[in-house]
Amino acid sequence: GKKCFALRIASTMARDEGWLAEQMLILGVETHDGEKSYVAAAFPSACGKTNFAMLIPPQALGGWKVTTVGDDIAWIKPGKDGRLYAINPEAGYFGVAPGTSEKTNFNAMATLKENVIFTNVALTDDGNLWWEGMSKEVPKHLIDWTGQDWTPDIGKQTGRKAAHPNARFTAPASQCPSIDPDWENPAGVPISAFIFGGRLATTVPLVYEAFNWNFGVYMAATLGSETTAAATGQMGVVRRDPFAMLPFCGYHMGDYFNHWLRIGHTIEHAPRIFTVNWFRQDKDGNILWPGFGENMRVLKWIIDRVKGSASARETSLGWMPKFEDIDWSGLDGLTRAQFEELTAVDADMWREELKLHAEWFDKLKSRLPRELLLKHELFELALVD
Ligand code: GDP
Ligand code: MN
Repeated sequence: GKKCFALRIASTMARDEGWLAEQMLILGVETHDGEKSYVAAAFPSACGKTNFAMLIPPQALGGWKVTTVGDDIAWIKPGKDGRLYAINPEAGYFGVAPGTSEKTNFNAMATLKENVIFTNVALTDDGNLWWEGMSKEVPKHLIDWTGQDWTPDIGKQTGRKAAHPNARFTAPASQCPSIDPDWENPAGVPISAFIFGGRLATTVPLVYEAFNWNFGVYMAATLGSETTAAATGQMGVVRRDPFAMLPFCGYHMGDYFNHWLRIGHTIEHAPRIFTVNWFRQDKDGNILWPGFGENMRVLKWIIDRVKGSASARETSLGWMPKFEDIDWSGLDGLTRAQFEELTAVDADMWREELKLHAEWFDKLKSRLPRELLLKHELFELALVD
């Protein structure tokens, strides 16, 4: 009922009927003066959709509020006013448990107070649950997800996690404190921006905005991510996952790209398209960006871009914020130099990346829109050392 109907079957219906079925979260953003916009974002499994959908903005940003319409699937249809409207076809959340804590995703933890099904988590001696990352303190004894005794020492010796990396919770959406008042509105919510992101240690900067719809489709069509347990059971290998839909699209990806190009050209007010990467690392393998609630700073820049009130610089990839274009209120410790590392575009690395795009496109060449090959060439020409 989830991925098979709401994505594989629905994407094929959407192709035939002129709409989109996507692996996207939908969230509402309210500014301090009460103006509300909605965005939809596609990240591959275990790359932060549920976290982003339930984000709690840092207080220092002054009155921004995020509400949750959906955390995984969006059905998106053109409205009579020329905008795209999205609904969440799901009744609940099916989220990755490990890494979920009151600190990383407070709203998800609050959603899990009752009426929940857990799979492959660990059990504590007092009949409670635990997973890696739920608390700083690791319980002294657990029954792990395989049903065996587990202690921190056994974990170290065997390499076995207490909870499976893809352990899950299932809970009714209505229990989420940040649920949007329109989450069940059959008319959907109007989408102002699409955001694509993956888990990439190098190459992709913190955020950039596509020059136009077609460039945005190119970015999404070549989206890469380091694999997570949810998708393959294998960690740390970069894999193409266009639109985060490779495992879920019900028809040929080349035709799917064409469908996206066509949708953007037939609606009057196409959303802007952005790419984000919360997972860029420094030379020692430390994640550079604080992430989670702090992602609001990037989301704010995105919303301000859509409204035409944020500035940016042109790069070979697209429009990117300068250090002073991001609101840093209340966040100490991210220096201008670190921000530059986070947003650097390394021309040599991107030339290698573009070679991989070419290989990827070659696999789809029988149905690949020519537009994307031309964009590939434009990207190559735009790279400057
Ligand atoms: P989903 O499967 O796409 O919904 O991903 P989740 O929101 O469940 O997150 C998957 C994993 O990524 C969890 O371990 C999160 O703690 C982690 N994660 C989510 N957002 C961020 C972020 O902004 N920064 C970092 N470093 N990790 C994140
Ligand atoms: Mn999720």
